Amino acid sequence: MKYEVVIGLEIHAELSTQSKVFCGCSTAFGAEPNTNVCPVCLGMPGALPVLNKKAVEYIVRAGLALNCEIANYSKMDRKNYFYPDLPKAYQISQFDLPFCKGGYLNIQADGKEHTVGITRIHLEEDAGKLVHTPGGTLVDYNRSSMPLIEIVSEPDMRSAKQAVEYAKAIRNILLFAKVSNCKMQEGALRFDANVSVRPFGSKSYGTRTEIKNLSSFKMLQKAIDYEYQRQVSMIEKGEKIRQQTLRWNESSNRIIALRSKEDAHDYRYFPDPDLLPVILSDAFIEDVRSKMPQMPEEKKKMYIEQFQLSEYDAEVLTANSELCAFYEEVLQDYNEPKIAANWVNVELMALLNQSDMLVEELPFAACDMAQLLQNIQSGKISGKMGKGVLADMFETGKSPEEIISAKGLSQISDTAELEKIADEVLANNPASVADYRAGKEKAIGFLVGQVMKATKGAANPQSVNEILRTKLNE
Ligand SMILES: [Zn+2]
Repeated sequence: MKYEVVIGLEIHAELSTQSKVFCGCSTAFGAEPNTNVCPVCLGMPGALPVLNKKAVEYIVRAGLALNCEIANYSKMDRKNYFYPDLPKAYQISQFDLPFCKGGYLNIQADGKEHTVGITRIHLEEDAGKLVHTPGGTLVDYNRSSMPLIEIVSEPDMRSAKQAVEYAKAIRNILLFAKVSNCKMQEGALRFDANVSVRPFGSKSYGTRTEIKNLSSFKMLQKAIDYEYQRQVSMIEKGEKIRQQTLRWNESSNRIIALRSKEDAHDYRYFPDPDLLPVILSDAFIEDVRSKMPQMPEEKKKMYIEQFQLSEYDAEVLTANSELCAFYEEVLQDYNEPKIAANWVNVELMALLNQSDMLVEELPFAACDMAQLLQNIQSGKISGKMGKGVLADMFETGKSPEEIISAKGLSQISDTAELEKIADEVLANNPASVADYRAGKEKAIGFLVGQVMKATKGAANPQSVNEILRTKLNE
């Protein structure tokens, strides 16, 4: 029998507020352990939490960006469990009245567009961090009470690829909305995957397991693929899938069972008596909406309508917030949107893909790229030379001016010299000359090519074309 995988994701994103969600401690990453702490985030008895208004604004912004309904009435609840990284023995989260509900996100995967439903987005605090050392396990409470949003999807994904594309799209939206830096290496974006399998065509869901704390797209993909295989082989052996919480072990590429999966009632949720319900007026929500940064869909439309970019170019640029920001920065010094889009999407992307690098890891700035394009525009170097210069910039991080002068690159714009070479080419290729004069337009292409070859690509093809035509028509 053939089985289909059913996936829902819970995505935790750390909000990029300056201070924590219920106290004034700094959210800066990388501080000395247990220095960004106070009685509130250490869970001291009697310390009182105060909700960070910026965190509320950010979750509303995330909700609007993901097409959610924003609740006018919301509250914070206590989720009770014991763990050494949770000093209060409860986490402040939201149970039945989250800030955002009922959204969706359209993604491109497996060659089609899919709509993934978003059940809810709620606000909660992060726990501290256990640090395992040879001498024992230590706890760092700097992360305790960091503001998190949890974005819960519907079980709408049917392949690991779709789940990864959805996770990437969420990251992109959060970056465009400027609510989280989404730095995965710092744990600012983490995924829990709910995975079940069922025979193709079945309408009911199989028993699901939850793989916790996946911290990269690669891990997400591998863990889902592994879990799918594991569940299918269990079913085929006639075994029953148990509802479990699992952990992906990156070093052994295997899944480890953590515990049997808990239900909501295991946590004894109840409203936090230290925090008042949150009432959001329509005016507040509208204010957040009016200050929303431009989202990818809107930008895409603008690129197509105002910049005359192709649908494809607009899609590639807006699917990656860092690439998009880089492109717009290039435009600040080089206002030719179509040419810039072509260089960013084709030449720059090829270099990035070859070396498996991200835009934010580029060794040069957007203004350097703009300078390179200006040099091509002015005719100082040819487009072909430009590609070489870009590759050098990529390798060395040097500015285009430095590379152009160090390599003695510049186009031959000395007409006398080009005319001399053109004369030689015409003398050496009588057949092509005769063809052209007999009306074969195409013969000019060959002759231009010969001049380009003789100049090692240093001539401006357009000038060469003009010089040859003048001579042939004499
Ligand atoms: Zn604190």
